[in-house]
Amino acid sequence: MIISPKVRGFICTTAHPEGCAKHVADQIAVVKSRGPIANGPKKVLVIGSSTGYGLSSRIAAAFGSDAATIGVFFERPGEESRPATAGWYNSAAFEKEAAAAGLYARSFNGDAFSDAMKAEVIAAIKADLGQVDCVVYSLASPRRTDPKTGEVYSSVLKPIGQSYSAKNLNTNTGVVNEVSIEPAQGDDIPQTVAVMGGEDWMFWMDALLEAGVLAEGVQTVAYSYIGPEVTWPIYKQGTIGKAKEDLERVQRELDAKLAPLKGKAWVSVNKALVTQASSAIPVVPLYISLLYKVMKDEGTHEDTIEQMDRLFRDRMYNGNPQPDEAGRIRVDDWEMAPAVQSLVGERWKEVNTENLGELGDFAGYQSSFLRLFGFGLEGVDYAADTNPAIGVPSIK
Ligand code: NAD
Repeated sequence: MIISPKVRGFICTTAHPEGCAKHVADQIAVVKSRGPIANGPKKVLVIGSSTGYGLSSRIAAAFGSDAATIGVFFERPGEESRPATAGWYNSAAFEKEAAAAGLYARSFNGDAFSDAMKAEVIAAIKADLGQVDCVVYSLASPRRTDPKTGEVYSSVLKPIGQSYSAKNLNTNTGVVNEVSIEPAQGDDIPQTVAVMGGEDWMFWMDALLEAGVLAEGVQTVAYSYIGPEVTWPIYKQGTIGKAKEDLERVQRELDAKLAPLKGKAWVSVNKALVTQASSAIPVVPLYISLLYKVMKDEGTHEDTIEQMDRLFRDRMYNGNPQPDEAGRIRVDDWEMAPAVQSLVGERWKEVNTENLGELGDFAGYQSSFLRLFGFGLEGVDYAADTNPAIGVPSIK
């Protein structure tokens, strides 16, 4: 079938297999061009490994330090007449490239929040790898089913205490308008914390620890975001910010639990980038458009792969993690540099529909968004017939 993009609001309901494969190959090339990551991880479990930061973590570990990887994700396979989700094609491409490079790679498609998935993955670690020395936790989900009670929690992106109005970008039309978001009510906060907070990370680490499949010196990392003050009401001080605070609570608890293994838990604060998760957050796409322009102009722009390569290469595995006052790794350092933030801040005040093309990088935002789904990649023949029903080799 011929597959073209079908964008509905902030998601694209189609994905292109060859385009996603090219996106994965491009990321591998970035890591390889930087040479091997000395002392990098060797046996890595990535929870949320099919798109965004998790996919790039898997690629950086495999192609930067020859790591065997196990990936967990929730994606829809393709059918004869219906494309798969992008993460399915990314994972198929990743496994193919890993096999060609002689690297072990196994993937699990299903609900990472469930006890059954944890048990399946632990059995695979025992059978194939013995232990893992790195666990990346990179889930982003709107919902989570509690494995003990069966209750379904839903996360919301809302301010706390008062409503919030700010400039916003309609990413379909390029119109800069104003958005007003009502504050969290009822149990919005605990629901969001239950989905995007640290409880499930803790459940994973407890299960892995109990099964004896964590190697001495194991490191685990989960991802967070802080960003500039203009986004704080909806992010840092909003419902999602409460969930990220909970992640930090769990990081401290995990640090203590891993101490007997000489292990370490981290929260890494990453840069704002276009991913399937971030495009759903109000206000953030406008901020990202302005940020991309400033960082591209000054030569410091990074995508998820450059971020994750830098996290492993320069922070987690070179003995110089440079934690901040709260013990977090900050690979958002270039985003948060005062010169970058002051320019973005000035342009934030001035930006409107007419000058967005000049002050921001909306074209860059749009092309990054489409690339997430395998569209707009160089060298891919989008007019050619393609098979949407390809498999992920390790998933039978
Ligand atoms: P993403 O949407 O690209 O990736 C989410 C991953 O989670 C996918 O692999 C998906 O398959 C998997 N997943 C979702 N629900 C699942 C389930 N029930 N079971 C198994 N797998 C499931 O998102 P992302 O932007 O890469 O976000 C990853 C983490 O990085 C999040 O914690 C996010 O807050 C954080 N982060 C993102 C940004 C950003 O700008 N995108 C910045 C800083 C931090």
